[in-house]
Amino acid sequence: MIDSAFRPLPDSIKGVFFDMDGVLYDSMGAHADAWSQAFRFFGFDFSPEMVYRNEGRTAQSTINLVFQQEKNRDATEQEIEEIYSKKTEIIADFPAAVAFDGVLSLMKKLSERSVSIWVVTGSSQDKFLNALLEDFAGYVDKTRVITGQDVQHGKPHPEPYLMALKRSGHASHEVVVIENAPLGIQSAKGAGIFTIAVNTGILDDQVLWDSGADQVYKNMLELTF
Ligand code: CA
Repeated sequence: MIDSAFRPLPDSIKGVFFDMDGVLYDSMGAHADAWSQAFRFFGFDFSPEMVYRNEGRTAQSTINLVFQQEKNRDATEQEIEEIYSKKTEIIADFPAAVAFDGVLSLMKKLSERSVSIWVVTGSSQDKFLNALLEDFAGYVDKTRVITGQDVQHGKPHPEPYLMALKRSGHASHEVVVIENAPLGIQSAKGAGIFTIAVNTGILDDQVLWDSGADQVYKNMLELTF
């Protein structure tokens, strides 16, 4: 059974690569609403469900996706800047995201076993990255965070997780990824890594299985390894 293989986590596992939004933080509802509102401000329709389906893309990729659908072209740099600024402005008024229950205790356990903790996110916003370092101080170090600025190609491309493998020095079979989003799962699987999904959003579990997840759980509290 694959499931029992990770309870407890095998000694061969040297690192855990965590996605950030929707895995460490209960933040995706805010991102979904903010993206949806920002697009509506500029006359585009992009539902919160579409945000969840495309979660993990960089901001530029998300905006280009909508432009391709509605205008059959990529957005200009100025259009990207305007829409992304609007989204940033909207989300700034939302309450700060809180960490999911179970995350800190999981990190503590991993740390006690000398399993290295990495965060692999498409986000590039200093505000969120600084909060990450503060909220998980002692466990998350800025030298072990891959952001949207570290890669040419965001998720679903495997580059973010390949970059984490390269920087950590771990082989793909020595780590597991924890993801919540279809494109994040595709990215991790593309890098050849065992991928545990936590379905903290609004999509059906089947969407995560179809993206290639090796296991699907409801929330971080279920990850008892
Ligand atoms: Ca995510």
